[in-house]
Amino acid sequence: MNKVVSIDAAPGSNSLAAFDVERVRRDFPILKQKVYGKSLVFLDSGASAQKPQVVIDAVRECYETYYSNVHRGAHFLSQRCTDAYEAVRADIAGFINAPSENNVVITSSVTESINLVAQTWGRKFLKAGDEVIVSEMEHHANIVPWQLLETEIGITIKVAPIDENGEFLLDSFKQLLSPKTKLVAITEVSNVLGTIVPVKEVIRLAHAAGALVLIDGAQGIVHHGVDVQDLDCDFYGFTGHKLYGPSGVGVLYGKAEVLSAMPPYQGGGDMIEKVSFSGTTFKEPPHRFEAGTPPIAQVIGLGAAIRYVSGLGMDNIAAHEQGLLAYANSRIEDLGGVRIVGQAHDKAAIISFLLDGAHPFDVAAVLDRQGVATRVGHHCAEPLMDRLGVVGTVRASFGLYNTSDDVDRLIAALGKAKDLLL
Ligand SMILES: *Cc1c(COP(=O)(O)O)cnc(C)c1O
Repeated sequence: MNKVVSIDAAPGSNSLAAFDVERVRRDFPILKQKVYGKSLVFLDSGASAQKPQVVIDAVRECYETYYSNVHRGAHFLSQRCTDAYEAVRADIAGFINAPSENNVVITSSVTESINLVAQTWGRKFLKAGDEVIVSEMEHHANIVPWQLLETEIGITIKVAPIDENGEFLLDSFKQLLSPKTKLVAITEVSNVLGTIVPVKEVIRLAHAAGALVLIDGAQGIVHHGVDVQDLDCDFYGFTGHKLYGPSGVGVLYGKAEVLSAMPPYQGGGDMIEKVSFSGTTFKEPPHRFEAGTPPIAQVIGLGAAIRYVSGLGMDNIAAHEQGLLAYANSRIEDLGGVRIVGQAHDKAAIISFLLDGAHPFDVAAVLDRQGVATRVGHHCAEPLMDRLGVVGTVRASFGLYNTSDDVDRLIAALGKAKDLLL
């Protein structure tokens, strides 16, 4: 493998001009911090990303100047806050190229987005013997909601396999499709292996078999742009805190005809048209699925995050991260003794690894003392750990603010781990 000298000058001269990582880093106050006396190297964005100043400011401005409940009050602040809140729904629609803001349901997380689909669409349209296909790489959030329906309704879960490299096996997936398949629920990018699943082809095949498709976009949307109409998915879920926005807010995109056929999720304020003891009527989507006071300031913050990443350009972010991935791979290879778990051809900038002869928890602890934050464990994907025959991995996940210097620090810390642990 060729040594890459500096990747901060990402491939393509346009992205070089548009994407100045040192300037980007200055937008993230938390990155200035030292831990254990060393400057922080944050390689855990896959668990939750840090927030740029514009997001922090947007949340603060909301609370300081126009915060109020939405869709309710007859007063000035309530109208202003409702306008700001609903404007974000339109921003989200634009960001994922949804046909309308009415395709965008605000949830608390992608976990809730998936549970919403299971509990409304699933309970209405699935019956005993129907099949839901997931993959071996799913996060627990895209396994357990379907298992709850397995217990409740008697649906069957089929699992699309991967190979040793973490490559999604399209042919094996094809063979699982049948007239019994009602839904394919699949991640766009593995949060453990970084594998980019060929979701467009998965969606095409699933539709040809008469099934709907839900994409878990928690990791996908942060590493590359998303166009739900081009994908033609029926549902797409993502979570705000991994997209440089606040926690406590998520999104469920759904096709209009699918959403309007779905019964309400939770009952309460804001989702009704008229309530009486002789019967209650519900609003049209998306409000039908949004009972109670929503995460107002978090939605405002997510709007700021979307404007921020859009301003940088998702293509520029993707190119920058791909440069980091290539550089990190080559440096890890040169170091030796480190096994990268997940070597799919198309990968996002997520590297799971094991240091031969050392427990992953010990490795992560040594990295931490060197100021390098990673995640260790099963990454909410225990079935994947079983499939790969490992107890867990150390995961370095890169975000738009990481640099080649961060990779160098990771390699130096791994060198230290080898000295101390082997
Ligand atoms: C993080 C993650 C989730 C869960 O996200 P929450 O914000 O906890 O709901 C689901 N799927 C994938 C692929 C993830 O990476």
